[in-house]
Amino acid sequence: MKLYCDYNATTPMRKEVFNAVVDAMKRFWGNSFSPHSLGRESGIAVENAREKVAKLVSCPARSVRFTSGATESNSWLLSHYQRREKRIMVSAVEHPSVLQYGDCQLSTDENGVIRLELLERELNTGTVGIVSVMAANNETGVIQPIQEIFQCCQRYGVPFHCDASQIYSKISMPVAADFITLSAHKFGGPKGVGALVLNREIDALLQGGPQERGSRAGTHNIPAIVGMGVAASLCETPYRFDTLPLEKQICKLGGRVLGSNVNRLPNTVSALFSTPGDLVVFALDLRGVQASTGSACSSGASQDSHVLRAMGEAGTPVRFSLGPDTDIVTLCDILEDVLTSMEAECV
Ligand code: PMP
Repeated sequence: MKLYCDYNATTPMRKEVFNAVVDAMKRFWGNSFSPHSLGRESGIAVENAREKVAKLVSCPARSVRFTSGATESNSWLLSHYQRREKRIMVSAVEHPSVLQYGDCQLSTDENGVIRLELLERELNTGTVGIVSVMAANNETGVIQPIQEIFQCCQRYGVPFHCDASQIYSKISMPVAADFITLSAHKFGGPKGVGALVLNREIDALLQGGPQERGSRAGTHNIPAIVGMGVAASLCETPYRFDTLPLEKQICKLGGRVLGSNVNRLPNTVSALFSTPGDLVVFALDLRGVQASTGSACSSGASQDSHVLRAMGEAGTPVRFSLGPDTDIVTLCDILEDVLTSMEAECV
């Protein structure tokens, strides 16, 4: 028995996506810029996928630039602003691919939500070149007030970037921003493909070809792009989740759910127990439950998570990020077994 509870790290490809990827490998293996019919058909497949992604984020198709994923999208955009004079302002709970570019970090409250008054104070200095705040946090699922942040940035004429990698297929949330980051493998698409939505032009990432309006040259990975398009269409209707039984079970077992007082992704429950999270994750894995201790990018690293630190918390949590078919009853039973036997060993 395997119970996969790590959907925020990556998701399995949806069946429809898998079929479309295989079909694209067979039919659209041409170069999307070749002048013959195979090239043209391959190019049309890319443009169809672009339209589907654009529909998901309600932007014009020409704003969607395909990349290799969210890390590339974030780095492309923020390295552009790094070459400018003004400061890059990021929230203290961003993914490392954003955090590393921050000249200044916006602190959060104890729930991990950024403080709008601090943002406004920084924008008022006239020294901020771009603000980057994620839509929802990968470790805790905490959702940021994106609409208010965008409006605040607009009042000061400062561009706003939103890493929206984690929200699609989980919630239906309009993302208003000058730049948006997407990653297909977070919403049932293939790995190694994502997008940067550019509502303003920036320097090219890769030059030497006409692809992506000359901003990201290189022959298209057509099957992956087609798969991302299909996944984008499918997640226009988000899954439904009910994590309440899991949260109740965690409390019953003496754990504490992070960000429990604020809006969170409905699939994400991150909790601190008296037993260190890495030990719990290991024991759960032996029982077939695949959970994690925060983000896949930081697990394995010895220092505490920067997200927990920003919330004034310490320790290693256990993150359950569920999928549409996760068997919560079985998960709750196994969690109880694992924690009670670990506590019994400690006394
Ligand atoms: N941003 C966020 C919020 C993420 O959760 C992740 C993946 N953990 C990334 C960026 C990086 O995504 P990718 O694997 O597509 O590079």
